[in-house]
Amino acid sequence: MPASAKASPAARKRAKAVSSSSAGPRYRVRMLRLHAHVFDVELELDRPDPGGQELWLPVWVPGSYLVREFARHVLDMRAFCGRRELGLRKTAKNRWRIEACEGPLRVQLSVYAHDASVRAAWLDPSRGFFNASSLLPAAAGFEHVEHQLSLEPPPELRWSVATTLPARRVDERGFGTYAARDYEHLVDHPVACGDHLRIAFRACGTPHEMVLEHGSRLREQVDQRRLAADLRRICEAQIALFEPEAPRAPFRRYAFLLAPSPTGWGGLEHADSSALICAEADLPHPRDGADAGAGYRRLLGLCSHEYFHAWNVKRIRPQALTPIDLERENLTGMLWLFEGFTSYYDDLVLRRTGLISPQQYLQLLAEAMRAVQATPGRHVQSLEQASFDAWIKFYRPDENTPNATVSYYTLGGLFALALDLHLRSRGKGCLDDVMRLLWRRYGRADAPLREQGVPEDALPALVREACGADVRAWFARHVRGREELPLQRLLAGFGVELSHGAPEPADALGLRLDGASSWPMVRFVRSASWAEQAGLCAGDVLVAVNEQQAGTANLARQWRRARPGQSWSVHAMRDGRLLQLRAALPQPEPGPVQLQLAARPSAAALRLRRAWLGG
Ligand SMILES: [Zn+2]
Repeated sequence: MPASAKASPAARKRAKAVSSSSAGPRYRVRMLRLHAHVFDVELELDRPDPGGQELWLPVWVPGSYLVREFARHVLDMRAFCGRRELGLRKTAKNRWRIEACEGPLRVQLSVYAHDASVRAAWLDPSRGFFNASSLLPAAAGFEHVEHQLSLEPPPELRWSVATTLPARRVDERGFGTYAARDYEHLVDHPVACGDHLRIAFRACGTPHEMVLEHGSRLREQVDQRRLAADLRRICEAQIALFEPEAPRAPFRRYAFLLAPSPTGWGGLEHADSSALICAEADLPHPRDGADAGAGYRRLLGLCSHEYFHAWNVKRIRPQALTPIDLERENLTGMLWLFEGFTSYYDDLVLRRTGLISPQQYLQLLAEAMRAVQATPGRHVQSLEQASFDAWIKFYRPDENTPNATVSYYTLGGLFALALDLHLRSRGKGCLDDVMRLLWRRYGRADAPLREQGVPEDALPALVREACGADVRAWFARHVRGREELPLQRLLAGFGVELSHGAPEPADALGLRLDGASSWPMVRFVRSASWAEQAGLCAGDVLVAVNEQQAGTANLARQWRRARPGQSWSVHAMRDGRLLQLRAALPQPEPGPVQLQLAARPSAAALRLRRAWLGG
């Protein structure tokens, strides 16, 4: 294990000595080259390693399980001891070694920042954003001491700063000096600079805010009161879920850092904040009626998801990520708990707080069920395997991904649903009790096992302790195994009916097509489908089906008249050559899942449903 994560006793001793002299790394970040998307960074270290100082940059950002090699965006680096320039060489893809020097060390680097996601860094004339993992190299041996960060405003722009890093000396716009207790803390507090619209509210007495980029433009277009009121309901419901007796947030303040964008979407959780991207159209407008639309509900679901992570993964951590190693993959088979359970609660909290109706909630559940239904990979990969291989599979999708993998978000969320319904129908607690026990045991500041994280196989025993239920067989079948979840039976007990709609022709044939043109391109061929039997593959261009021009309208017309066993031909172009392929139509499979509230549920089912979904 490298110094980044598991410091040797010697390094810790030195860190302590350094800490007592408060000589931790000091960074200065300047935004001078906005059009070139380049941050200028300076790092000062008063007492560098006398044997030669090593610097390193993380290769991934916690919450997004892919090695992203942030060092590839470092443009140049120079080191100085006073006026003397020091020799410097790379010793690994993300490490630099600087010639030994006695006095204070100063390192200058510039970093290209044009990643519009929430996982790296961005700089242009409209805003600046960074995770320290992209920009600020750690000084080896100093990871566990206080780090200071000074932010300088870009000349001639009235930007302000939004970050949950503790401020030391900052001006009214937030430029100045911040302090992080160690390097991991620094990495966990992203920094957003720009033209901000701040929407403040309190949840259970704790200050919260949503900070929107492009504030001047959006100020009149966003229903700020609605956003504050709805976010407050979500935050208070989650705080009360974990601390029902005396609702208290686990942080001193919280910030949703939101960058609206025409195309982007996504979020990344942090301990005291989240970085979010949504479409501008998803924001509520002051003239929206009672229903601000599906886009707004989706945005609230995203905020709810990232906020839930403030407990589940940031403070209740998997043992495999305790401590986090920022220089390589951190493998855990439990992302179904940390992402899947979070995915279950994100929309459920919207329902519990009345922000969506029971029917809207069931629609969201049905969407998740349809996504899993369209993923034959669920027969290939278990939830545990999907978690473990996230780094090389989930985050690196290709044309065969749905055949080979299953999402630990989506199936993990459905597993949480099934487990919750199973526990509730036994009348002894529910998944909330399991989350509270996880929080008490592994998360809260006074938790005895806080430093240990959740062991890989801990859940069955925790469920037994919280709810008195033996679910070891469930875990064997649905987490380690690949058995289908008995959702139809479970939902029926809660007065929810599961049915199947008519399949889409392309789906029924095992195809996903690009666009609705007359000659669509095949994006995906489902395993064990007609398309696979015929020999089609991703990248083929469909020319004709049964000698009639291909295209979704023609396909639909032919599908309506088709019979199982009938032989269908297809002409396709591949690598510039025309292929003629043929296969018999299979027996039809059930169409997409639909859910609805049963019209006349039994009294018992109604009672259970009300306890689960509210009135
Ligand atoms: Zn998540």
